[in-house]
Amino acid sequence: MIKFFEGKFGRIFIVRLPTDGDLLKSIEEFAEKVGVKAGVLWVVGAVKKAVVKYYSQEEKKYLKISLDLPLEILSCTGNISRFKGKTIAHIHLVFGDKEGKTFGGHLDEGTIIFSAEMFLLEVKDVVLEREYDKVTGLNLFKV
Ligand code: ZN
Repeated sequence: MIKFFEGKFGRIFIVRLPTDGDLLKSIEEFAEKVGVKAGVLWVVGAVKKAVVKYYSQEEKKYLKISLDLPLEILSCTGNISRFKGKTIAHIHLVFGDKEGKTFGGHLDEGTIIFSAEMFLLEVKDVVLEREYDKVTGLNLFKV
C-alpha cells in the first residue's frame, strides 16, 4: 500500500553554507532557524572530509564510513522533517575525488564544508513527522 501526503510549494531559500561548518548540522540549524518543518533540498559544493553511513538491512543498523580526503559533492538530495520535536535532515550524497572515483552514503555528522550552495524548498500544508518502523528498523514518515 502506498501512503502519502499532498502538500504545496512554500518558500524557497538559496543558501551559502559556512566553510568549516558541519554540513548536516548547518542544514538542520538553518531549517530550524527559518522555520522549515517539511522540505526538500539540494546541495552542490565540496567538503574537506566526509562521514557517511550505510544501512545494513540484515543487521538493521548503520555502518559508518569515514572519508578523510577533500571531495566534491556531485549529488546531494534530501528532505526535512520532524522527529521527537526536532527538525531533522535526511540526506544522501555522492562524492567524487580527484580521479573521479565516487563514494557515497547517508550524510552523518563530521562532514566538513569547503563550499556548499543549497536550495531548500519548503513544503506547506503537511505535518511531516517520523516514527519508528519495526519492519525496517528505520524512522520513516508517519503517514
Ligand atoms: Zn538515509
